[in-house]
Amino acid sequence: MPERKPLSANTVIELVDVDKTFANGTTALRSFNLRLQQGEFTSLVGTSGCGKSTVLRLIAGLSRTTSGELRREQPEGESSDFRIGFVFQEPTLLPWSRVWDNVYLPLRLRGQSKAAARETVNQAIEMVGLADFARVYPRELSGGMKMRVSIARALVTRPQLLLMDEPFGALDEQTRFALNDQLLRLWQQYQLTIAFVTHSVYEAVYLGQRVVVLSSRPGRVTADIEVSGDGQRDGAFRRSGHYHETCERVSQALAASAGVATA
Ligand code: ADP
Repeated sequence: MPERKPLSANTVIELVDVDKTFANGTTALRSFNLRLQQGEFTSLVGTSGCGKSTVLRLIAGLSRTTSGELRREQPEGESSDFRIGFVFQEPTLLPWSRVWDNVYLPLRLRGQSKAAARETVNQAIEMVGLADFARVYPRELSGGMKMRVSIARALVTRPQLLLMDEPFGALDEQTRFALNDQLLRLWQQYQLTIAFVTHSVYEAVYLGQRVVVLSSRPGRVTADIEVSGDGQRDGAFRRSGHYHETCERVSQALAASAGVATA
């Protein structure tokens, strides 16, 4: 493991000793430290209410830290425009807009005309395999397809960081597995940096190169477990001893940090 040096060349974002207390006095995070590296797929797991969404919201700038630091690396030679894509558990599509217009929305909000955005939007829709559905309305799509539209919308700005908050939690297992594999392909192909929150230890280990375990509220990082092996993530990986051992390690870390005795 490299030394935890702040803002090393490939750090995308770093939270240092972050505390977050809401106006009603609830402390969601205390002494929270996390570093996200360029091109890395990081899974975050923790019991419900431990502060996972709060971490993502702080990173996205939707909420402010009470104390501590949130540092962003500015890639050299790039504009100061740090773009973050956010995918929520619900696809939150505009029902009156076609798939194409839903994906176009972030660029429209940035002032891009349809003509200027056309190619970028088409590419984002192709990335998630929905080119044939660009003209349809969300109500005509399955739950998994709606989520793919939501992912395309998050990727359309070419974000330096993709935040995903339990995006597949509401889907059936088969669809979830298919989207897991599709997401991994996108991550590899486009060298995305992803922070992925999930309730599922199995999903966290399948997707992540590392799994960050949070304590119960106030959340802090209690374990940071590497999922070694650069090999394929597929059915064979799901059946492998390494996968099951890593799931067991994460489950134990989760139980310990939630104050539950492990067997
Ligand atoms: P998780 O995503 O792990 O389920 P959250 O980050 O959503 O947890 O919430 C962490 C804690 O902070 C919870 O106890 C939640 O009730 C509380 N919380 C979240 N948002 C607010 C808010 N805006 N005001 C007050 N408390 C909040």
